[in-house]
Amino acid sequence: PNSRAQDGKPRLMLMGQKRSGKSSISSVVFHKLPPSETLYLETTTHITKYSVHSILDFAIYDLPGHINYLDDAYDDEATFGEVDAVIWVIDAQDEYLDAINALNRTVLILQSRFPTINVEVFVHKVDGLSEDYKSDTFRDIIQRVQDELSDAGYDNAPVSFYQTSIFDDSIFEAFSKVIQKLIPQLPTLESLLNSLCSNCRIEKAYLFDVLSKIYIATDTSPTDIGSYEICSGYIDVVVDISEIYGWDRPTENGHTADEDTEDGMQDGESLITMEKKGNNYLYLREINKYLALICLMGEDSNSEKKVLIDYNVGVFKEALSKIFPGA
Ligand code: GDP
Repeated sequence: PNSRAQDGKPRLMLMGQKRSGKSSISSVVFHKLPPSETLYLETTTHITKYSVHSILDFAIYDLPGHINYLDDAYDDEATFGEVDAVIWVIDAQDEYLDAINALNRTVLILQSRFPTINVEVFVHKVDGLSEDYKSDTFRDIIQRVQDELSDAGYDNAPVSFYQTSIFDDSIFEAFSKVIQKLIPQLPTLESLLNSLCSNCRIEKAYLFDVLSKIYIATDTSPTDIGSYEICSGYIDVVVDISEIYGWDRPTENGHTADEDTEDGMQDGESLITMEKKGNNYLYLREINKYLALICLMGEDSNSEKKVLIDYNVGVFKEALSKIFPGA
């Protein structure tokens, strides 16, 4: 499904019961709040809309538990008309039957009224659970939702499940998968990254949304546990986030820098860097104001290789600006 939004940004809506973790998730992913500080967050009330400096937009929707959903809340083209995916957050550490009932009602309503909206269920706060309890809970939740769907005749509803926590990378991995489904150019991006990797003997390449550390694509080689972490950690080290906000600063003639190039991609300010990290080399290059390419390589890397990579990444960037304008 393509993004319905005018500007092509995927629109996400975070839903779920109070205290399920919605504000925490958005603060950790989009505002760099340390997970331990989410304890002191105010809970969300009703709809909070965010437009972040990112390739995506999202809103948080707190479920008013006491009202009848079938009424106004869902009768709202304005609320759901532009949404591409609903992320439903369930607190796996809490008694979850009420949450499942609410989720099931929502899924059925969405299926009948907005069948193209992906429903992405985050079975959340799994950090506190034993391995056994965690997988039993996960299976139980999936079963209860799927039973409801198939009873209603929706066997192929676009509903998926993830185990998440703000205390590790699982929340970023899950968001990445949710976003990737909404990017129609994904297969092209993946094959571009595949050829970049094979041309330069790169082990793993990620195209990151810099602010959120969600990756919108990676090459199709199997992902090593830890490679996401190494690469996303590198963003914090080398990219000054305030620069993302400042990228559009006016140039001398009074225009913003973006206006100087047709596609908003310019080389002037883009950061390119390569460093040794433990046994690996990391290469980072900013692609545009939201995106950075990060590559993970083995020990044999050297300055000659950097020249090769610079060249190939240039080619990649060129191709990207053609297939992915306006990012
Ligand atoms: P909201 O009402 O859905 O916005 O929920 P909040 O974001 O206010 O979160 C409620 C509580 O859950 C807070 O005390 C958070 O610290 C806690 N919380 C959120 N995410 C996680 C998580 O992944 N693991 C754990 N253990 N606690 C979490």
